[in-house]
Amino acid sequence: MAPIAITPPNDNNTFTDLTQEGIKSALRKNAPSQINAASLTTATTLPPPEPATKAQDVVDAPLAELDASKVQCTYTTAPRSVPAVGSAEMASQKVCTDHMIQAKWTVESGWEAPTLQPYGPISLAPTASCLHYATECFEGMKLYRGHDGKLRLFRPDLNCNRMLMSTNRIALPAFPPKELLKLVIKLCATDGKKWLPKDRPGQFLYIRPTMIASDPALGVERPKEALLFVILCCFGPMGSTSGGIKLLASQDDMCRAWPGGFGYAKVGANYGPSLVAQGEARKMGYHQILWLFGDDCTITEAGASNFFVVWRTKEGKLQLITADLNERIVLDGVTRRSILELARTRLTSSSTSTDLETLEIVERKFNIFEIEEAAREGRLVEAFASGTAWFVAPISQIHFRGKDIEVPMVKGDSGAYADVLKGWLKGIMWGSDGMEGHEWGIVIDEQ
Ligand SMILES: *Cc1c(COP(=O)(O)O)cnc(C)c1O
Repeated sequence: MAPIAITPPNDNNTFTDLTQEGIKSALRKNAPSQINAASLTTATTLPPPEPATKAQDVVDAPLAELDASKVQCTYTTAPRSVPAVGSAEMASQKVCTDHMIQAKWTVESGWEAPTLQPYGPISLAPTASCLHYATECFEGMKLYRGHDGKLRLFRPDLNCNRMLMSTNRIALPAFPPKELLKLVIKLCATDGKKWLPKDRPGQFLYIRPTMIASDPALGVERPKEALLFVILCCFGPMGSTSGGIKLLASQDDMCRAWPGGFGYAKVGANYGPSLVAQGEARKMGYHQILWLFGDDCTITEAGASNFFVVWRTKEGKLQLITADLNERIVLDGVTRRSILELARTRLTSSSTSTDLETLEIVERKFNIFEIEEAAREGRLVEAFASGTAWFVAPISQIHFRGKDIEVPMVKGDSGAYADVLKGWLKGIMWGSDGMEGHEWGIVIDEQ
């Protein structure tokens, strides 16, 4: 599939750009040591990389770089048991696999050799920076056991790039994303075979790379110590959303993210404060909050997922629309990008992959009044949320200021576009439906 550019955010000082250039510039600004540009991940959506720029131009002391080839492995002597499919244990999101990755960083020496070690608690001083100042960021990806028996990751390079962007936003140390990717692959290769048995195709493990500032000092200042870790967690099937997701629009007195803030980064500080609203939504019978922003009720995201609408304009044009990334109040989701790229390749007028009417792909600021009006005039076609955790989740209803906006679902429990997009993504992730060899599906060699 030809690479397709997705509107990059206007980048001035803050690094939100997941392109090769954006990453190089972030590494130059924040690198703990010399970065060899050749070690950067090959981003799949981007123009060809420029010649290497050495970070030593701006960094005096050469500190040790994160280096996956130095990983020291200690295998468990107390293997954990794999929960049964469908068990409460499996769904508890508490059970992790036998091993984890750890890597320590200090401002004096840079990155220590990473370790693959038995899964277990980490020890932190009660004064640790992350416990007080939210110096924490994370990623969320999945390891899929394919219907063809293979283990796959889905575009993991983009998650590793985004992790670097998030660490940048909260003064955590830089690292070459490609090295993080190698560590993720190492862990998946080690635990994949046992925890995703070949006779359980269609299952997945949730991968959680995390970085925290571990400084044992209470001062409010740039972290001098950090810990990177990666764990693999069992997840049951996602909560049943048959009948579609019901969204509660956020109240006027609350927002998730704001211009100049950090909504575009996967930092822990974005999530704790959203739980009050989410709890209220659940109590009222809704699944998630639809986060609006500002007096004009701009649409941003649904829970921790991106949000898409298919509608017909007043002029009769069919459009797939989602919020743009320009104000940095929306997270640049890997699923979002992938949906936009697949839709641009397969659902616009130049393509003929389905029987569906072709549509125009639009990334722009839009608001809930436009959705309300489209619904009133019979122009609202469907809506869905997208993210690694909830995948592609069709939306059936949006509650806004005391009224329900009913969202059509022509296929019963989904709209037609969500259905076809979900099918393509599933095929890539689980190696089926003729999508086995797709370049977004990275096959892991099991140990
Ligand atoms: C993780 C996340 C998403 C989805 O991103 P994916 O890369 O598609 O998983 C969307 N919005 C928020 C706020 C998120 O944290």
